[in-house]
Amino acid sequence: MNIFVVNAGSSSLKFQIIETDLELIEKHADRQLAKGLIERIGSESLVTLKVEGKSTLKLTAPLRDHKAALNYIIKWIINPETQIPGIEGIEDIHAIGHRTVHGGEMFHKSIRIDKEVITAMEDNIDLAPLHNPANLKGIYAAREVFGPAVPQVAIFDTSFHLTMPEYAYLYPIPYQYYRRYKIRRYGFHGTSHRYIAYLYRALTGKSKEDTNIITLHLGNGASACAIKKGKSIDTSMGFTPLEGLMMGTRAGDLDASVIEYLCHKEAAPLEEIISVLNKRSGILGISGLTNDMRDLLDEESEHKDRRASLAINMFCYRIKKYIGAYMAAMNGADAICFTGGIGENAVEIRRRVCENLEGMGIILDEESNKLAVGGKALLISKPESKVEVWVLPTNEELVLARDTCRVVLNASGK
Ligand code: ADP
Repeated sequence: MNIFVVNAGSSSLKFQIIETDLELIEKHADRQLAKGLIERIGSESLVTLKVEGKSTLKLTAPLRDHKAALNYIIKWIINPETQIPGIEGIEDIHAIGHRTVHGGEMFHKSIRIDKEVITAMEDNIDLAPLHNPANLKGIYAAREVFGPAVPQVAIFDTSFHLTMPEYAYLYPIPYQYYRRYKIRRYGFHGTSHRYIAYLYRALTGKSKEDTNIITLHLGNGASACAIKKGKSIDTSMGFTPLEGLMMGTRAGDLDASVIEYLCHKEAAPLEEIISVLNKRSGILGISGLTNDMRDLLDEESEHKDRRASLAINMFCYRIKKYIGAYMAAMNGADAICFTGGIGENAVEIRRRVCENLEGMGIILDEESNKLAVGGKALLISKPESKVEVWVLPTNEELVLARDTCRVVLNASGK
């Protein structure tokens, strides 16, 4: 089965074509056939396209909206010169999987998109005003371009965390706000945390029941997750992705009173301060230089920049605190798993996060840590470390493709 997976943002569209089926999933033999990215939809768009094993194509094209972007991609896919293995016409795309950010409390699992799912997603726009409309644009466009006969599946970023117990997902504010407005912690990056738990099981041979780990997804956005008996029991992002760890541009945990105080002091409207917390805080805010961890690490080592160093140390310290909290929440963990652009590549960040945690049974192997770069799966703790430390490359697109395949096959009874 060839699955077209889409991640639609407000002005961007990322896609992959993945060949998978139940047998290929079982053998971990699913194959990425092609991928691409369209940025700046709505003006002169930047297009990046790549067939697996061939060189990357970079182009520009005036693409008005998501539908135009999808039409452009399809034209490329079916162009005889493109030569994606097994794909000659649009009929060779068998299903579409959409990364969808906010499923609220309704969607515990990935689901085939029908009228009701769309209505529920529209009802959730309030909860994710930036993300859900963008995801919906992708869904409407795909339906128009591929036609209603091609099944579409929604894979929600929130679903994996719906197993959190009430005492973990509620905020200690008057209970009626939860009842009336569904204000609670939802958590995000669910596809990534779920995939890392799966990969951990695949590599260690453990069962779901025996999977007690802390996953750290450290990218531009960052979150931690406590996974007990294979299920998410707590995660650091909350009502929105703003809560939790310090991130590239997001503040993470913060005393809510700062918001009012800043509005007053800066004579700025609330929206502006919230935008500062989302877009100008975190690593960027503290360093005053960049939200990019690689650049920041270079800045620290080459120029000894004090604030670059401070931002890195704050980033690591806040991760450490979550490790401690989740160790307590789970009565200890068997492993800590790093993933995401930073988690998979930044040797120095992993070193600082794990430094001085011997008291909690965490002993890093400095040499293995240095080897774990560029998307390798590697155990990086010493044999005597009570808690294992892993670096595991995430693959959210693969989860989207596999879920789409499973949902479609069940629906058609195959
Ligand atoms: P996103 O959340 O946008 O998907 P990624 O998971 O791609 O982000 O992670 C991006 C982050 O990973 C950036 O801060 C980038 O600097 C960092 N990163 C990537 N490679 C390295 C590296 N070799 N060393 C340090 N940081 C890295």
